[in-house]
Amino acid sequence: MHKTYNDPEIGEITLRKNIRSRRITMRVRRDGSVLVTLPWFVTYGAALDFFIKGRDWVLKTRNKMRQNASSATPEEIARQTELAKSILPARLAELAAQYGFVYNQVRVKHNVSNWGSCSARHNINLNYRLVLLPDDLRDYVLLHELCHLKHMNHGPEFHALLEDVCPGHLAKQRALRAWKPF
Ligand SMILES: [Zn+2]
Repeated sequence: MHKTYNDPEIGEITLRKNIRSRRITMRVRRDGSVLVTLPWFVTYGAALDFFIKGRDWVLKTRNKMRQNASSATPEEIARQTELAKSILPARLAELAAQYGFVYNQVRVKHNVSNWGSCSARHNINLNYRLVLLPDDLRDYVLLHELCHLKHMNHGPEFHALLEDVCPGHLAKQRALRAWKPF
């Protein structure tokens, strides 16, 4: 049993009843979303109050997660890039085949400004740090770039297509804000 609440800055807050819990607890997941666990005898309203009181803590924790993510050593970066090259192009090809997209080339880059890009020549660049994201957020970025093959903008048609292949994509776009591409 659970309810969700949308915080304009933080994104989705999940309030989940757990028969074994004795008190309200709150944690920030790896993707930056928030999970509040509450005992069965506590109301969702009380759990939401708990979140609101702890909202500053959530923002601080998310900032710390972001900083940790951006302090990788050169060895870590090299290892992550290798991993990315073995995973991302294959996953992109799989999603393209599944949804009928055709691209030209894919490159995995050590990029600081974005998660991915798609050129007018239908070449896709992917940030190696995508391998550090939860799978659903990684796929969201890959599908986002694939949809640019058909719409080179962020207009309504682009979003409609992306929603078709990646349901709930706006929530994923929000969750991605907790992560930085460098
Ligand atoms: Zn885009």
